[in-house]
Amino acid sequence: MTAPSGCPAATGRWRSLLLVAILALAVSGCGQSREPLHKTQLLAMGTLVNISIWSPDAALAQRAVTAVTQELNDAHERWHAWQPSTLTRLNDELAAGKTATVDDDTRELIQQARELSTASQHLFNPAIGGLIELWGFHSDQRPDTPPPSQQINQLLASAPSLADVQVDGKRVRSTNSAVQLDFGAIAKGYAVDRAMQRLRQMDVRNAIVNAGGDLRAIGRHGERPWRIGIRHPTRSGVLASLETHGDESVFTSGDYERYFEYNDKRYHHIIDPRTGYPARGITSVTVVHSEATTADAAATALFVAGPEKWQAIAKSLGISHVMVVDDTGTVYMTPAMAERIQFETDPAPETVIVSP
Ligand code: AMP
Ligand code: MG
Repeated sequence: MTAPSGCPAATGRWRSLLLVAILALAVSGCGQSREPLHKTQLLAMGTLVNISIWSPDAALAQRAVTAVTQELNDAHERWHAWQPSTLTRLNDELAAGKTATVDDDTRELIQQARELSTASQHLFNPAIGGLIELWGFHSDQRPDTPPPSQQINQLLASAPSLADVQVDGKRVRSTNSAVQLDFGAIAKGYAVDRAMQRLRQMDVRNAIVNAGGDLRAIGRHGERPWRIGIRHPTRSGVLASLETHGDESVFTSGDYERYFEYNDKRYHHIIDPRTGYPARGITSVTVVHSEATTADAAATALFVAGPEKWQAIAKSLGISHVMVVDDTGTVYMTPAMAERIQFETDPAPETVIVSP
């Protein structure tokens, strides 16, 4: 899913007011509830976030919601790809050949992104912000035409990657002026991990932080596990569901999140760094993994890898649970994922279990 680069224009004062209003509603609901399930919906990172806390302690649930909101808003403000943020300032400095100084979280995010990028053979490549901007996805408006191929080829020739970025303590520099960082494929996962860490520190044991369908779940819903739905990529409603075990993240990348149509062809926001064009062959990829940061980057990487290569990239990323819907609607699953998935459509889609 997209974050923070898929963000609508609910910013600044209006966003703060909206959040306060939603929080106030949610908090008053929590305070009166005797049910141990506390559900809150709010707008953060440009997406609808659902927080579910299973706890008899309503006051704790309120504090938990505040902590999660803080983490997500903080990530949104730091790593927004085009509204003025820590990231846009860093990109300006890198493009000018300067050495930038970053905060601990940004450094940590760059380091994690670098490892995941390398393990994905740079199919997940957060240094291609220039390409994503060229395609018009660094805007609150929907683009309407593909960019000229000459400009795409120019950017491809400069081959920006995180291998060009050097991190020394808090100091960051790039040896390639074409590097433009875009954490849209990983920042939401990172923020969800941070939020979950805060909840654990507060002794919240049973919770889901669900940011626009991408989530991390810990513990249980009382006597039963949490059950979560995976969106159908081409229809409204749910394609499948699964129960989470212990502490798991479920992230989906899909071509339906941000796109435009031109001459009857869909151009979406997940760009193949090998071609400079939207990745082809897959409609959605769902990954289950312990950490949200990895699950987020991996879902994007496997989407880019396409029908031929996703298994190899999943292996090098250490991901065992994958569900892929290809552009004909056929569902491919690893055996580990097949054991967990329950289809919610009638009839169930054509399914292929891919041997490891
Ligand atoms: P996701 O929805 O998690 O797959 O992330 C998609 C977002 O990540 C896009 O909106 C872009 O901001 C960014 N992005 C697109 N293609 C790539 C790529 N190949 N590698 C890394 N980030 C990408
Ligand atoms: Mg992602």
